[in-house]
Amino acid sequence: MQQGFATARFSRRHVIRLMGAGTGLAAVSALTGGSDLLAGLQRTAASASSIRRLPRGSIIRTLLRDVPPDALGTGAVLFHEHLSINLSGLGRGGRQGAPPLPPATDNVDLIVQLVSKAGTEGVSCIVDGGHLDMGRKLNDLRTIAMRTNVHVVASGGFYMQRVYPPDLAAKSEDQVADDLVRQATEGHLGAFGEIGEDPNGAELTLDERKVFRAVGKAAVRTGLPVFTHNSYGTGPNVPKDIGLQQLDILESTGLRPERIAIGHACCLNDPQATIITEIAKRGAFVGFDRVTTVQQIMPDEQKVAMALAFLEAGHADKLLLSADFTGQRTLDAGPGYGRTLTVFVPMLRKAGVDEATLHTIVYDNPRRFLAFVPKKT
Ligand SMILES: [Zn+2]
Ligand SMILES: [Zn+2]
Repeated sequence: MQQGFATARFSRRHVIRLMGAGTGLAAVSALTGGSDLLAGLQRTAASASSIRRLPRGSIIRTLLRDVPPDALGTGAVLFHEHLSINLSGLGRGGRQGAPPLPPATDNVDLIVQLVSKAGTEGVSCIVDGGHLDMGRKLNDLRTIAMRTNVHVVASGGFYMQRVYPPDLAAKSEDQVADDLVRQATEGHLGAFGEIGEDPNGAELTLDERKVFRAVGKAAVRTGLPVFTHNSYGTGPNVPKDIGLQQLDILESTGLRPERIAIGHACCLNDPQATIITEIAKRGAFVGFDRVTTVQQIMPDEQKVAMALAFLEAGHADKLLLSADFTGQRTLDAGPGYGRTLTVFVPMLRKAGVDEATLHTIVYDNPRRFLAFVPKKT
């Protein structure tokens, strides 16, 4: 019940703030047929934005070209979705009771349709969270980027022990780091992610620790950001602080916390936002990147309550939203890749989060996370 109290307190304060600016927004919403997020975002886009304070020469590395952060369109950036994924035949099972691997997303024509639709819903850029060991096809991502008006950022890395390529075990941390830097350069990759651990484990395996360290080193060398996959919600053995453990390992390589997003935090049962506040205090981003999906692990209402507690603690500049959507179940009329904006953001708004804060979360934060000044590697 305490979380309900926190929500109510937050709502009252912010609803009052919203009322002051409400008339103009309502009018714009009526004109755009209810697409009030887009209207709200564009309205606040003119306001002072933290992305203007990024270092000179900062770019976001999309698959097709490097783009200045303020030229990445006027809409939201989804920092963790899947536009190309195929884990069939790659998995070796993992621990007993582990959830099944997601089905393949390899119908490029369908994904092009869905991404185009997301573009009309206010999405300017999507980061694909897959890489080679997830069956991600870079050529498919290029096709999707070329056939839509949505920017696509591709990622590198390794996913989790149960899908690692067999030759990874024999490689040293530095060899893996070298491979990752090469992958990133050759593929024009814009991030490392998602980097994770097997479901329901009490700790990372030795190989997973090696991968985390190698990714940290590769990120330091290239300047690329890193987003993680967490096993939150996958079983009783998962420690609540595993997100902090991930941060420890990545930071031990010299990687600055501002370059890191600890993912799937919205699947952690942490109504007071204690763990995620600690992550943000250390300077890392907190990824709510399973919003509207995996409802059986954590219903959206609980994700909203935790987000409100996090915002109330003063960390709006550290929250990242995305859905980890794989394009499945979309031949029906259900929400597609825009679901973060069309389903979850309205829930935050209804709970009292004002437009300026929403703009910070879906517009500024992912641009700051993705932007970097390219280094010679
Ligand atoms: Zn994941
Ligand atoms: Zn994912």
